[in-house]
Amino acid sequence: TINPLNVLAIEVDSTPDARILPLTSGLADHLFDHDGQITKREIRAMTLSALAPRRGELLWDIGAGSGSVGIEWMLAHSSLRAVAIEADSTRAARIHRNAAACGVPGLVVVEGSAPKVLAKLQTPDAIFIGGGGSDAGVLNAAIKALRPGGRLVANAVTLEMEALLLAQHTRHGGDLTRIAISRASPVGSMQAWRPAMPVTQWSWVK
Ligand code: SAH
Repeated sequence: TINPLNVLAIEVDSTPDARILPLTSGLADHLFDHDGQITKREIRAMTLSALAPRRGELLWDIGAGSGSVGIEWMLAHSSLRAVAIEADSTRAARIHRNAAACGVPGLVVVEGSAPKVLAKLQTPDAIFIGGGGSDAGVLNAAIKALRPGGRLVANAVTLEMEALLLAQHTRHGGDLTRIAISRASPVGSMQAWRPAMPVTQWSWVK
């Protein structure tokens, strides 16, 4: 008889370059290849919590950057599907690589600009807007495309994007949250808090 624990040990030993991913959202930023444009770990964990994936659902990750949000959505359960929409071709290629490296090669990457490329996509159960939200019509197109009962989560760092989210919150309701993270880092021989740029998050159920 084969002891299942031994089988696991053999598999781990025979793939020394295998990456062991934690089961919860909010993976370390370094697990994704990125150029600095990435939703940081803590913000990503809160974003996935707000997106609240349920079995079999489809996510649009608009302005996908490194693909980290769509990838974590798919990692949450094997029945989940995601489309990453990214305007920049270098980043779109990187999303493919990151998805494969994280074990979710089924992530669909659409290279192109929102809102134009959204029209041909299947109706989503949830939408994340991590970039491109200030481009004319993206928020409204997302709101329109989302299925009734679906969730929309949009993150803003700039005041211009925040103003758009405030306007949508005033109009449609939902939750507006401000997430401010600081990390302890050295100042001479001591330490001080270094704040990251705060993120405003609008979360809404259609
Ligand atoms: N959530 C991402 C980071 C997003 S950075 C991550 O965790 O990696 C914002 C991204 O939006 C950038 O890569 C930018 O190229 C893309 N973007 C900006 N405007 C866009 C638009 N109109 N359509 C598609 N992508 C867009």
